[in-house]
Amino acid sequence: FGLLQRQDPEIAQILTDELDRLCDGIQLIASENFASPAVLAALGSTLTNKYAEGYPGRRYYAGCEVVDRAERLAIDRARRLFGAEHVNVQPHSGASANLAAYAALLQPGDTVLAMALPHGGHLTHGSKVNFSGRWFGVVAYGVRRDTELIDYDEVRELALRHQPKMIICGATAYPRQIDFAAFRGIADEVGAWLLADIAHTVGLMAGRALPSAVPYADVVTFTTHKALRGPRGGGIMCTEELADKIDRAVFPFIQGGPLMHAVAAKAVAFGEALRPEFAEYARQVVANAQVLADGLAAEGMRPVSGGTDSHLALVDLRDTGISGAVAEHRCASAGITLNRNAIPYDPEPPTVTSGIRVGTPCVTTQGMGGEEMKEVASMVAQVIRNPDAVEETRVRARELARAHQIYPREL
Ligand code: PLP
Repeated sequence: FGLLQRQDPEIAQILTDELDRLCDGIQLIASENFASPAVLAALGSTLTNKYAEGYPGRRYYAGCEVVDRAERLAIDRARRLFGAEHVNVQPHSGASANLAAYAALLQPGDTVLAMALPHGGHLTHGSKVNFSGRWFGVVAYGVRRDTELIDYDEVRELALRHQPKMIICGATAYPRQIDFAAFRGIADEVGAWLLADIAHTVGLMAGRALPSAVPYADVVTFTTHKALRGPRGGGIMCTEELADKIDRAVFPFIQGGPLMHAVAAKAVAFGEALRPEFAEYARQVVANAQVLADGLAAEGMRPVSGGTDSHLALVDLRDTGISGAVAEHRCASAGITLNRNAIPYDPEPPTVTSGIRVGTPCVTTQGMGGEEMKEVASMVAQVIRNPDAVEETRVRARELARAHQIYPREL
C-alpha cells in the first residue's frame, strides 16, 4: 500500500476512503460481504498477468502449468463443497454465468419461465433491458398476494401452458426457502431444463444453513462474492452430461481468457467455506437476519412474507409513510448502507419503491450477533422515522462498526 501511495496517491486515497466508509458504517447490502485478507491477497497477485484461455491441461497459451494448479484446486474444492458432478469456475460474474447457462441450453427465441423482477427475480431472468428479455421469450411467475410466497400452482400452470425449454428458480430479493423439489417436478412434467440461480444463497448452502439446489437442478449458477465471501465472480455447477456444453458456453462462446487471480481467490474462498467455522457463520447469518427482521417488525416495519429463512429480509415501509428511496437516503446519511427494493405488488415505481432490503452477511462476518442486530434494527427505525436523528444515529452506527472492525485500518 505504501508503494501505491507513492506512485498513485489519487487511487491510494480512494482505497483509504472506501476502507473508512466500510469500517465506519453498518453494511446491510444483502449481496455484499467482507472477503478475507487471504482472498484479497490472491486477488492482488501476479496471477492477474497470465493468459490461460481454455481449461486446465488444455490451454491455448504456454506457461499455464502453475495457474492450472489453481484452477484445479478451485474446481476440486467446489465439487467437495457442493457434491457437484462438474464445476466451471471461470465466469466473471453471476450475470456471465447465467448468459453461459442460457447459451448452453437454449437457442434465441426459446421460451423461459422465470421469476418476475418486481417479485424478486434478477435482471438476467428476463428483463427487457437485459439479453435474457431481448433474446428469449420469457414468461414470469410471481409470489401470491396473500402469503408473498412463490405460487407453485401458478408456476405449474404457466409451465403447462407455455411449455418452456428452461425454468429458472432462484432470486435476488426473496427471503424464503425455495422448494427445489417442486421445481424439479414441474420441469420434469413439461420436459424443461431446470436452472437454479443460487447467486444469493450459495454461501448458505455451502454452510448447510439452507438445503442445496445441486441435487435437483440440471445447471446451478452462482456468485462467489455474496454470502460465500469470496472474490467478485461467478461459477456454474452441472451434471456430467452437460459438462462439455457448459464449458464451451463459458469459453470460447461468451468469454475469452479467465481471470486467474480471481480463480485462485475463488479456490481460497471455497477452502474457507469447507472449514467447520463456515457452517457456524452461515447459521449465524440466518439467525441474525431473523433477529433483524423481528426487530424491524417490532418497529412497525413489516417483513414481507412475515420473516426470513435466509440472509435477507425485505421490509414493507408503507405503514411508516416513508418510501424505499427516502429510507435508503436517510440510512446512508447515517452511515447505514442498505438498498431500496420493490415489494411484491408494489404501487411505487422501481426508482421509489415501498420497501428496503437488508442483509446480514457483512455484519455477521464482523462478528455481530443477536444483540447487535436489535441495536441495528433500532437505528434503522430511528433514522427512517426521524430525519433529525441522522447525526445521533451516525455516531451510534460508527461506534458499533468500529467495535467490530475486521480489516486493519491500513490495507
Ligand atoms: N443472479 C442473481 C439471482 C443475483 O442476485 C445476481 C446479483 O445480484 C446475479 C445473478 C448477477 O450477479 P453479478 O452481479 O455478479 O453479475
